[in-house]
Amino acid sequence: MHKHHRALGLASVPNNAVTGIDVARSCPAEPVTLVRPHAARRAARFFVEKFPGRTLYAVKANPSPDLIRILWDAGVTHYDVASIAEVRMVRATLPEAVLCFMHPVKAEEAIAEAYFGHGVRTFSLDSMEELDKIVRATRAPDGTPAADLTLCVRLRVSSDYSKLSLASKFGVSPVEAKELLIAARQVADALGICFHVGSQAMTPDAYAQAMERVRQAIVEAAVTVDVIDVGGGFPSSYPGMEPPPLELYFETIHRAFEKLPVSYSSELWAEPGRALCAEYSSLIVRVEKRRGDELYINDGAYGALFDAAHVGWRFPVTLLRDTESRTKPMAFSFYGPTCDDMDRMAGPFMLPADIAAGDYIEVGMLGAYGCAMRTGFNGFGTARTVTVADEPMTTLYAGRTAEPASNVVKL
Ligand SMILES: *Cc1c(COP(=O)(O)O)cnc(C)c1O
Repeated sequence: MHKHHRALGLASVPNNAVTGIDVARSCPAEPVTLVRPHAARRAARFFVEKFPGRTLYAVKANPSPDLIRILWDAGVTHYDVASIAEVRMVRATLPEAVLCFMHPVKAEEAIAEAYFGHGVRTFSLDSMEELDKIVRATRAPDGTPAADLTLCVRLRVSSDYSKLSLASKFGVSPVEAKELLIAARQVADALGICFHVGSQAMTPDAYAQAMERVRQAIVEAAVTVDVIDVGGGFPSSYPGMEPPPLELYFETIHRAFEKLPVSYSSELWAEPGRALCAEYSSLIVRVEKRRGDELYINDGAYGALFDAAHVGWRFPVTLLRDTESRTKPMAFSFYGPTCDDMDRMAGPFMLPADIAAGDYIEVGMLGAYGCAMRTGFNGFGTARTVTVADEPMTTLYAGRTAEPASNVVKL
């Protein structure tokens, strides 16, 4: 029995619940997005219960309103939004949520609409220009400056421990941080320091090192700080990228936070994107053609597999067939459906050697930066969504929270 086969996971699923293989049996001609509300709920409970501070969901990882409602119901009350469209969408979905506008470079109109129209009070910045912009955009019509701003200065930190760098675009350098922290302190009701260690940080050391930067910045600027925001970067599990347990990240962050001169008076925040939603969804694709070890599938670089194509990300795959293959797994690469040569996913993706046109594959762990990236290029943009109750292909959370790790779907 090959462990690539989905049938293994079915034992724990309630009899009447839909699973990935049921969807494959219906022979869909277009890709199908599977969503697993129980997986998102479990991840959210884990962060809410175990992260030693406040958890903000970074909406860009997966902006699905359904997902956002699930996270809210599981106790996530704060949302990291990065564009005015995200502000509007989360506000329309969750009227009571706290929104934090954490893109360090914003349009002045977006700041004003967020502040006056949607109650946003928390903004990040990494330059004096942005600070001036925020102050201007939030002034009352009579010119009175806003007295209720939480301003988070984004520090530049190393992405050395992460699979996807976020080190070059944003963040104030250690030399400029002092001046910006002092200036922001003067106009902020609450002052924060934030950073992002890069996505899929493979060791907690990434945060320890960044927190050392934070400590130096606080000491040099000699300001009081009310919020320490360690950003995103919390990993999920993929082939060849199995991270240490998230508890170790939380312990490392907590220890570093306690060593800061401001820990007694400040709040600790985190902004996980990937870790909260990677397990939420996967994708069923059909093999339209096989050429040697290359499979032509009906989704790709312009669909949910952007990262698989452009940064060589390896997602787990499984063959969905009623009768199990008796052949050994071998390495395949994928071509997506568009006419573009770049619509290619190198993998390697391990699948049974007898896979052929007409077979269905589930590509797992696409809840973060997968389904969110879909475009309509070349007419291949559609994917139906089906809620399923089976387990995601891998999980960091099963049996790790007070929630029963069952598959009960609450629709
Ligand atoms: C993208 C992003 C996040 C989420 O990052 P993950 O690696 O998905 O956890 C959090 N904060 C900011 C400011 C971001 O840009």
